[in-house]
Amino acid sequence: MPIAPALLIRGARAFTPGCDPHRPAVRDVLVVGDRIAAISDPDGPPLVPPPGAEIIDARDRLLMPGLVSAHYHSYDALLKGRFEDMPFDVWALHSQPAYWGRRSKAEIRARTLLGAMECLRNGITTIQDMNSLVPQDEETLDTILSAYAEIGIRVVFSIALRDLPDLDIAPFMAPDLSVEAAAIIGGKPGDPAADLAFVEAQLKRLRPLPARLHWALSPSGPQRSSTALLEGIADLSERYGLPVFTHVYETRAQLAKARRIYGADGGSMVRHMARIGLLTPRTTLAHAVHITEEEIALVAESGAGVVHNPLANLKLKNGVAPVAAMKRAGVRVALGCDNNSCSDCQNLFQAMKMMSLLAAGSDAEPAGVLACDAVEAATTGGARAVGLDAEIGTIAPGMKADLLLLDLRDPAWLPFTSATRQLVFSETGRGVDTVLVDGRVVVRHGRLTLLDEATYRGELAEVMEQVEADFARLLPRQAPAIAPLLDANARLAAQDLGLDRLAGGGLRGRR
Ligand SMILES: [Zn+2]
Repeated sequence: MPIAPALLIRGARAFTPGCDPHRPAVRDVLVVGDRIAAISDPDGPPLVPPPGAEIIDARDRLLMPGLVSAHYHSYDALLKGRFEDMPFDVWALHSQPAYWGRRSKAEIRARTLLGAMECLRNGITTIQDMNSLVPQDEETLDTILSAYAEIGIRVVFSIALRDLPDLDIAPFMAPDLSVEAAAIIGGKPGDPAADLAFVEAQLKRLRPLPARLHWALSPSGPQRSSTALLEGIADLSERYGLPVFTHVYETRAQLAKARRIYGADGGSMVRHMARIGLLTPRTTLAHAVHITEEEIALVAESGAGVVHNPLANLKLKNGVAPVAAMKRAGVRVALGCDNNSCSDCQNLFQAMKMMSLLAAGSDAEPAGVLACDAVEAATTGGARAVGLDAEIGTIAPGMKADLLLLDLRDPAWLPFTSATRQLVFSETGRGVDTVLVDGRVVVRHGRLTLLDEATYRGELAEVMEQVEADFARLLPRQAPAIAPLLDANARLAAQDLGLDRLAGGGLRGRR
């Protein structure tokens, strides 16, 4: 589809900055090229579209900024629905790309499109894809980026690096671990210099990136990275001005490992990052479930942020991130949907609701985490995390036209009492009607415009044959490590580490 030169969204209730969050005023929004050109005044005359402009009749629609999922991995998009009731490290044993080995180009394309398709259909216009390239080469990278360019989503892409291959829980495995299990849990150490050189070569080769693609940097996690690797990423971030996303304190094993390996930093992963120069306003910590109040204060002071992934944190038995404490401390919070194999959907309506409900259910008193905080996390918070808050996340003239129209005739919105609360507590994604990225309509009446979904389903069916066969082989190959991992996990669960983040206080197993 050609890019419309001009497009007028007529008569939508528009979530503009400073609007009544419950009953936003009805406005016209004019999009020219990839940006918002004008917004009508609620009491003023309607906007007059330029000749030839497309008109979208948005009566009974809520217009809001496209949602930003600030934590996602596309590599396992085809593993949706495979797993449940697994602690993190057991799940990792089945889902991490290193265990799956090289995939075909057709499969990489299919999985990339699938994740993006689900995001767009759910009103997510920007994702941060933290991707482990297997193999780490230009062909794999280009296959992913070209699929994203085709479907029209905005992507902040990072190549996840780690040079310490062991599962996070490895230091806590029983000493009598079998050679077979040890080989699965361990792995070959990486070469930080070569990895950093690869990433920098890509930054140079693909500069500027095509429209809607942006770079970020990712050490997979500080606990999976040597100091050399972390310092190298801090240096790249500084020199190229790029945002950094990394997994911090997602699991209890990561907390225990930090206490053990970061003695020089008082056992704190956050202090370790700060000392290395990796805790800056460009940094976003994914998860931060097992973070202390003192570390939260340090994050706030540094200007770094957190991306909260409530769906994945619950499904992988990691518990509840202390979002109310983060808000009190002034930490900026974004939201993510994380992997398809551990949240099983790319749906920020679910994540927004979960963020609000978990904060509510963690405290018998009013804790001050409101629906507006969830909406902010899914829009401006995400835009800030990916370093694009001057471009997206807000409906204002001059901003990129990454927009979402929700159908207020859907039962979720009847009767219409509060845009903010119904967005968080009632909308499921069913009301997503029209989605624009860069001024281009990529979803119209709930259907993708740039990809033929029936043709895509055929492509998917073809690659799934190999996925099914490899999955069937993976299960027995990884099986010897499961019992020892569960054993280590149970011992860690029983250990007092000074923090308890499980919902319900961990009714079984400790205290
Ligand atoms: Zn993640």
